[in-house]
Amino acid sequence: MNRVAVLGATGSIGGNTLDVIARHPERFRATVLTAHRQVEALTELCVRHRPELAVIADPALEAELARRLAAAGVHCEVASGHAALTAAAASTLCDTVVAAIVGAAGLESTLAAARAGKRLLLANKESIVMAGPLLLQAVSAGGGALIPVDSEHNAIFQCLPGGRANLVRSGVRRLILTASGGPFRGRTRAQLAQVTPDDACKHPNWVMGRKISVDSATLMNKGLEVIEAHHLFQAPVEVIEVLVHPQSLIHSMVEYADGSVLAQLGNPDMRTAIAHALAWPERVDAGVAPLNLAACAPLVFEPPDLGTFRCLALAFQALRAGGDAPAVLNAANEVAVEAFLAGALPFLSIADVVETVLAELPAQAVVDVQTLCERDRDAREAARRVLRKAC
Ligand code: NAD
Ligand code: MG
Repeated sequence: MNRVAVLGATGSIGGNTLDVIARHPERFRATVLTAHRQVEALTELCVRHRPELAVIADPALEAELARRLAAAGVHCEVASGHAALTAAAASTLCDTVVAAIVGAAGLESTLAAARAGKRLLLANKESIVMAGPLLLQAVSAGGGALIPVDSEHNAIFQCLPGGRANLVRSGVRRLILTASGGPFRGRTRAQLAQVTPDDACKHPNWVMGRKISVDSATLMNKGLEVIEAHHLFQAPVEVIEVLVHPQSLIHSMVEYADGSVLAQLGNPDMRTAIAHALAWPERVDAGVAPLNLAACAPLVFEPPDLGTFRCLALAFQALRAGGDAPAVLNAANEVAVEAFLAGALPFLSIADVVETVLAELPAQAVVDVQTLCERDRDAREAARRVLRKAC
């Protein structure tokens, strides 16, 4: 029995993970469930999945969670706060940790799972963007495994021998990350001046949390994924290419020296990547409909529009700058996206905020988690200053 901790259980990835787990009660059990503030949703999940531990990140809500669980007849352990979340990721209650918290808030629990040698299923891309080398060191020191859940990286993992080959020795020429282009593909800057958070969150192919939906609309999501691929596969920036493929049926590709291009295809449903990562190296049913290629042809491809979607260019810039520039990029983006979702920043200004903060805080070497978190705080403050000036 594989005992699974789902960090961010009330989110989109969390829900999809629990759906796959529930299809295989003989293989998987959700033993730890966590959420930020959604007490009601977390209680419902505990009723359905009967974990041994439920953690609510906001300590003010622990008593209410305990009361609701008792009323529902669920007798699991209850904890709250940041430290409890981190402890849950490393606890003996789980063998596998699904890191599905959104944003930098997921960094410490992701690192804790890695250090504890868990099988780490990584959806929380912000943590590897911020702390790539530190996270990889933690995985190797802990002796566990890191399996990507992000669909593009999961696709590349599936197309590489053994999941994570030495790219040079394996003759890899390019990693081709596909991008749907988001809801605003084909639009000009003038057409994007007035778009609202709801417009940005209407993704054509995927149903996701609001932060990643906005990132998909700005193409920052693809930028974060380029940085994620660089760390996960030890790939130099020149080897990574982004290709817009609006149907989201090819989830990414690997091109080899002999001209072969291996692609992983499937319907746009995160349960495929999640089921693959949960069961790897075996395969299990994910509840995903079979792909009917005859009904979806022809497949379309185009280059990304870096002039309109500047966030992607900024992510490449941060990756080339190296050091903690990706962490600065990520922090500024999180603040800008939050402001956009709150109706306080125009869509096109998200890139302006990120660009200004990157210029204000030039790249420094990554030393340890503490200095990285300080840098994250500095970048957030800088982004808030830019926002105050802009409004
Ligand atoms: P979501 O907003 O739907 O869910 C986020 C989860 O994190 C919730 O359970 C929430 O309670 C928890 N959370 C939020 N802030 C927290 C905090 N400060 N402390 C503790 N918990 C907190 O997000 P999502 O779409 O499921 O995305 C989760 C992660 O997976 C993101 O990093 C995203 O980039 C990545 N991802 C998502 C998808 C997708 O299809 N949704 C695909 C690939 C990668
Ligand atoms: Mg992705």
